[in-house]
Amino acid sequence: MTIYDNVLNAEGALIVGAGLAGLFCALKLAPRPVTVLSPKPLGLGASSSWAQGGVAAAVGQGDSAEAHARDTDIAGAGIVDFELAESVAAEAAERIEDLAKWGTPFDRDEKGQFILSKEAAHSVNRVVRVSGDRAGREIMAALIEEVRNTPSIRIVEGITAVDLARADGRVIGVYARKLGDRYAEPVLIRARATVLAAGGLGGLYAVTTNPPGVRGHAMGMAARAGALIADSEFVQFHPTAMAVGQDPAPLATEALRGEGAILVNDLGDRFMLDVHKDAELAPRDIVARANFRQIQEGRKVFLDTREALGSRIYDAFPTVANYCKEAGIDPAVEMIPVTPAAHFHMGGVKVDDRGRSSLAGLWVCGEASCTGLHGANRLASNSLLEAVVFGARIAEDISGLEPINKSLPPYLGIEWDEEKGEEAERMLRNLTAVQQLRHIMTNYVGVERSEESLKTALRKIRELEETARDVTRSYLNMTVSATLVAAAALQRTESRGGHYRSDYPEKNPKFRDHTTLTLTEALKIRDAC
Ligand SMILES: Cc1cc2nc3c(=O)[nH]c(=O)nc-3n(C[C@H](O)[C@H](O)[C@H](O)COP(=O)(O)OP(=O)(O)OC[C@H]3O[C@@H](n4cnc5c(N)ncnc54)[C@H](O)[C@@H]3O)c2cc1C
Repeated sequence: MTIYDNVLNAEGALIVGAGLAGLFCALKLAPRPVTVLSPKPLGLGASSSWAQGGVAAAVGQGDSAEAHARDTDIAGAGIVDFELAESVAAEAAERIEDLAKWGTPFDRDEKGQFILSKEAAHSVNRVVRVSGDRAGREIMAALIEEVRNTPSIRIVEGITAVDLARADGRVIGVYARKLGDRYAEPVLIRARATVLAAGGLGGLYAVTTNPPGVRGHAMGMAARAGALIADSEFVQFHPTAMAVGQDPAPLATEALRGEGAILVNDLGDRFMLDVHKDAELAPRDIVARANFRQIQEGRKVFLDTREALGSRIYDAFPTVANYCKEAGIDPAVEMIPVTPAAHFHMGGVKVDDRGRSSLAGLWVCGEASCTGLHGANRLASNSLLEAVVFGARIAEDISGLEPINKSLPPYLGIEWDEEKGEEAERMLRNLTAVQQLRHIMTNYVGVERSEESLKTALRKIRELEETARDVTRSYLNMTVSATLVAAAALQRTESRGGHYRSDYPEKNPKFRDHTTLTLTEALKIRDAC
């Protein structure tokens, strides 16, 4: 059978998305058969490959899972599930060993101990890193090699899921189509267990650090199938994306501030000293808002690494140094212009502690999910940890349910057509309706929100759905995700973590709980605007 026939049976499990969460889950399922769908060749198009800081893990002397969970809880502004956070932190060491076993060359000292970085709101050095700021790239390279050498894993590249398929009250797979072929009839790929690992939604915003394909498709698809969505209003804006005219905006990792880099405006004022006792190492949302306000007031904001790092930046942070070089900036002698950018989604498809969603047959992991770990604001470098911990838990859960299958049909990869792939990417960038949606999100559902801005956003998103000429299912997945973020943000009449309401600037104890919404409920909120 080829992919052009309209039904394909995935033996065993089907994993939608090939970032860290998807690939880790696939490896943990081995030798059980699994099919992994990736829109692009493995490694491309995933936020995981772009991670710079590393993986948070309480593996240092004197550190503990409890201390890690406590920091997670404080950053999460009162709505972290503490027990869950403790259990995730407790599994970190084992998952790091898995990554090392599969070839990740973590930075270690001469005694073989991990070199640990400090990032904002961690009380100790706790971030396991690789080649300075190359964690994502190196971890993914190691896993991709392992995946390619694992006979039970079938990779299908060049294909994107547009809908979940359901029958008899459960998810039975996905409808998918060739990337760049928007009008092709989707293929049904059936599976006994479906794992959604298709990433977050940063790319729904005009200013983002996320790859272009990461635009809320996973949450939109699941919500359209009836899944319960949690905490969708909580979007984390990274304070220091580089303002160098690129989309997506390259990231200047927080670890630079951990090393002593400071934020100044174009008047030379180190404004964070007046904002928070921890200055540049204050929680991310506070730094992002401070930068946002400077920019709103007409100032420019710069990250100054000159004194803290000087020319050491070239070796210690090669990724950032390279981004600077591409933008014509020498960070040893020049300051880096920065801006807040949509970076991480704390919310997503609601799952339990085994990664099960509210829909039978559907598991969700990685940034697409909401496990309750991050609360209202993610602690730096907790997301790669969550991706591997839940990738492993889901594999275990599915293994308990699914009998091992003996053999797999042959490899069914679609040849990657470079030209067509590039064309699809250009289309994604330029498509007017997509760009309009992204500007609505940045302008009205961004770093600061209000009742007025959120109602405007909901009305404008509805208008887009009604008037956009080509409302594909893929586009609907984006508008649905955008609606869920704005509707939940409208309902939460307080400020907490990544969600800041200029009309309700304080925390309200009444809201000390997760938001849960179905798409039907979100549409009701929208239609009342
Ligand atoms: C620049 C940057 C730096 C970061 N640094 C760190 C860090 O240092 N530490 C940390 O913990 N976190 C970091 N994060 C966050 C972290 O990288 C992500 O949260 C995490 O990698 C998400 O993993 P994932 O597997 O869920 O999603 P992703 O890695 O984004 O993978 C999603 C996969 O799904 C695919 N996909 C998307 N839509 C579809 C579809 N419709 N059908 C099929 N497949 C689809 C994508 O192509 C991709 O393969 C960073 C994020 C960014 C953007």
